[in-house]
Amino acid sequence: MNTHIPKHLEHLRHTLSHLMAAAVLEIRPDALPTLGPAIENGFYYDFDFPTPITDTDLLEIEKLMKKLLPTWKEFTHREVTKEEALEQFKENPYKQELIEEIVSRGEKLTLYTCGKFTDLCRGGHVEHPNKDIDPNAFKLSHIAGAYWRGNEKNKMLSRVYGLAFESKKDLDEYIKQTEEAKKRDHKKLGKELDLFFIDEKVGKGLPMWTPKGTALKFELENFTRDLERKYGYEHALQDILITIQKICTHQLTWTEICFIYAQWHALTTYACFNENLGVIKTFLLDMQK
Ligand SMILES: [Zn+2]
Repeated sequence: MNTHIPKHLEHLRHTLSHLMAAAVLEIRPDALPTLGPAIENGFYYDFDFPTPITDTDLLEIEKLMKKLLPTWKEFTHREVTKEEALEQFKENPYKQELIEEIVSRGEKLTLYTCGKFTDLCRGGHVEHPNKDIDPNAFKLSHIAGAYWRGNEKNKMLSRVYGLAFESKKDLDEYIKQTEEAKKRDHKKLGKELDLFFIDEKVGKGLPMWTPKGTALKFELENFTRDLERKYGYEHALQDILITIQKICTHQLTWTEICFIYAQWHALTTYACFNENLGVIKTFLLDMQK
């Protein structure tokens, strides 16, 4: 359950994950649906597809969802025994695993049906999907790989993502905002404006400043220092090494000193003192093991 999403929107999005699973199973009857929650901009459902799906399939699935929606008039649900649930999902080992878990927690097993689709679920849907969901306010967006239960030792599934909002206007606004944000992505702008570059050998999180970027960085630092002085702050420098040595229980080695300085100088531009200290302390604790 996602507590940041208004309840109605969460129910609407989760309902759409059911509708998507229904459409997927009509197009790919051999797919195995696993889990399909609501998320901050829509919904997803993880499937095990015997043969992978592509973006072209997404268009077909979305079209079918819109065709099925008017027939999804009402959800019904019923409580079932473990045996009934296992029988219902006898060909789906993922659902069987979930059933065993629900039973071991002493919780009830419920099946929710809408249209011709039945899923193992604990509820949280809109009452009348055909009336409560605007067919123009959702859109399947992309496919990504996702391990079953988020564990890399498990099978990689296909996560099909959809965007969903209360109205077409909200959906269009979200898409527009996302496109604008992509244009302003600092990784894109940094390269285009010749401010910094990323070297894989150094690390993805450690930008290498160009002369132009360094000049801009200095300007920003001057600006913030002036602002701090204006509000009565006084600056006082301390050596990070002395601070760390006082926290640390052993004499720092040369490798540790290099790491501390690298972390300190690289991260101070965009992280706070305590966060840097956290990174360095974690490193030192690992070294001590
Ligand atoms: Zn559900």
